[in-house]
Amino acid sequence: MTRPAKTAEGVSAPRRAVAPANAVEPAPLPTAGIALGMLWALPNTLVGLLLGAIGMAFGARPRVRPGDLACVFHHWPWGPGGAITIGNVILHTGDDLDVACATYAHAAGWGAEPAVSLALHERAHVYQYLVLGPLFLPVYLACGGIGARNRFERAADRFAATGRGWWPWPAPPRAKR
Ligand SMILES: [Zn+2]
Repeated sequence: MTRPAKTAEGVSAPRRAVAPANAVEPAPLPTAGIALGMLWALPNTLVGLLLGAIGMAFGARPRVRPGDLACVFHHWPWGPGGAITIGNVILHTGDDLDVACATYAHAAGWGAEPAVSLALHERAHVYQYLVLGPLFLPVYLACGGIGARNRFERAADRFAATGRGWWPWPAPPRAKR
């Protein structure tokens, strides 16, 4: 869901406007699946757009990112820093989604992993919403909170690292070297 804006070293916030070394451009989803999924996720997306609109009154700036199937509100004025995906909307405290960030497993000390693309991590959550729609949030929360123990987050990191495996079942391994 969210992604702390941290580097692989765990230092808060410096935004490296570069793609991580292991970035790959994933294959796109089938168009029909996208259309149905966006309709299914529409209740979430409307909530995201409402939050985005409120944020705009405080400086947030919207930008459509077709490749991520998302409307991103940059400069989101609230929260600890990072991004959160709600349907086809991404609320982001920074000004550029194309930055590298530490994986949850890395940040949790489960093993050294290369930094991944924040944009691809959030795209994985968009894809997860396309499948689960309004069920996303309850199922996500049932799998644990925001952190490395949540299979949704590890799947998003796996997708960001490899371009595959955004669906959280079966669960990604707890640690990899
Ligand atoms: Zn996430």
